Order: sequence, then C-alpha cells, then structure tokens
Amino acid sequence: MAFTIDQRHRLIENGRLVTRIMSPAQNTGGAFARQPSILIMHFTYGASAKSSAEWFRDGPKKVSAHVVVDRDGTVIQCVDFDTAANHAGKSSWGGLTSFNNKSFGIELANWGYLKRSGAGWSSYTGVPIPEPFIAPHKNGNPYLPTDAPIGWEPYPQAQIATAMGIARELVKTYRVDTILGHDDIARDRKWDPGPAFDMARFRNQLLGDRAVDGPNTLTVRSPSGLNLRNGPGVGSGVLELLADGTVVEPVERSGNWVMVNVLDEAGIAQKTGWVHGAFLV
Ligand SMILES: [Zn+2]
Repeated sequence: MAFTIDQRHRLIENGRLVTRIMSPAQNTGGAFARQPSILIMHFTYGASAKSSAEWFRDGPKKVSAHVVVDRDGTVIQCVDFDTAANHAGKSSWGGLTSFNNKSFGIELANWGYLKRSGAGWSSYTGVPIPEPFIAPHKNGNPYLPTDAPIGWEPYPQAQIATAMGIARELVKTYRVDTILGHDDIARDRKWDPGPAFDMARFRNQLLGDRAVDGPNTLTVRSPSGLNLRNGPGVGSGVLELLADGTVVEPVERSGNWVMVNVLDEAGIAQKTGWVHGAFLV
C-alpha cells in the first residue's frame, strides 16, 4: 500500500481516498489550533474497524479517532488530520495534558485484553482467541490485582504494516516526532495498545531508523551551544555544553529528547547523553 495525505488532510491510498465513515462534528474537538507532532496508538476493544467507525459516528459517547485500521490492513478515516479527535480523554505525559488537541489517534481493530475461557482465552464478548500474546501489562493488569501474565489479541502483520504506512505519512507531512500508547498518557485507566503491540519496533522504524538513506548522524544547530544531559528532560543534570556544529549519533528517543553518542572528528563516540531534539538537524 502507498499512503499520502492530500491538501485537505485526508488519507489517500494508491491515489484514492480511503473509505470514510466520518465522525460528526460534535464527536470531535474541531479544527486543531496547531497541527500536532504527537501520535497516539490505540486498540479498539472491538471486533472490526467498521464497527468502531460506526460507534464513533453513532455512539453516545462523543468519542472519535482519525483512522481505524482493520485486521486485514484496510483503513477507514473518521476524522481528517486538521481536526482534533476525541481519542485520548483525560491524559498527561511529559508535562503535557489534554492530548485530544495535541495528537493524532490511530485505532487498531483488536479485542485487547482477554478473559480465561476453559483452557484458552476469549474476548470479553466470548470470541475465542486461539493464539493470544501472553504478558502482563506494564501499568498493571486491567482486571486482576496482580502483574500475572494474561492473554492479549495479537496484531496481524498486515494491520501493523498499514499502521506503519499511515504513521510514516504523518511523520513526513506533520513532522510527528513522538509516538506514544494510550497506556502511556492515561496510565491509570487505559491498557491500549498493550503488550502485544511492539511499540519499540514501531517507534524505531518510524523515528529511529535514519540510517537507511544516509549516515546515521545529526548536527547540533544552536549558536549558544546545547546542553548534553544525563537524562531526558531539563531536570536532568548537565554533563557538558556541546558546541554548535557538534556531530552526534542518535541512539534512542524519549518524546522530544534524543539520547546521542557525541562523535569526534574521526566519527568515534566519545561520550553519551541526552539532548533536546529541536536543536539537531
Ligand atoms: Zn485508546
């Protein structure tokens, strides 16, 4: 599949608009005051993309998301990318709150966490899931007061490939630089996309893998220099002031912060620390 986003902020696949089941205006937050650079990943806790898109259109809850990706990789757009969708609810992360007006939302059709059903696992509606992903949730389990491993519906490869294709367009078109789970921004009440979603790989493919088209280095662009810190955030201690023009190798991202190796003239890593990504080009 080849995705693009047109000038009206609609998703295009292979030259045609994707299926559209639009959420009504009262289920959205209206036009974004500022285009976001954050993407939030979700599972629907439902059966099909269509059923979720129709829920966003007809349901009483005034919820919505930009797109819903079905298990076979087909996609439905529900809210255009210039409009805030009601997908995040009460949320906070990295000093930010209220992610509805700060982020895009991609929903993945998935039953989420499963119940024990005889020797196996099933959805809360009773659909058997023959080969679930078994793991505890990083925030604690949704329905057990323990961190015992439970079953989660796996995400098919076709679905992940589509989600990645759309996310890549969001990165390109809107300079998305932060990808989080709903379970990162609403830790006390959300479990999606959950442990069956390989967030590290997803992020890495979209944000961390810059080695494909050229050397995997970035340059400090800040006339007054850039603080190299021992952690991701202004509260972390300063290790050193990197001069304008210093060449670094990105290792890992955390929100807007990038862990880097500081390279010498021979391209050898001399030290490691965190810098704010806004000053790297
Ligand atoms: Zn969610």
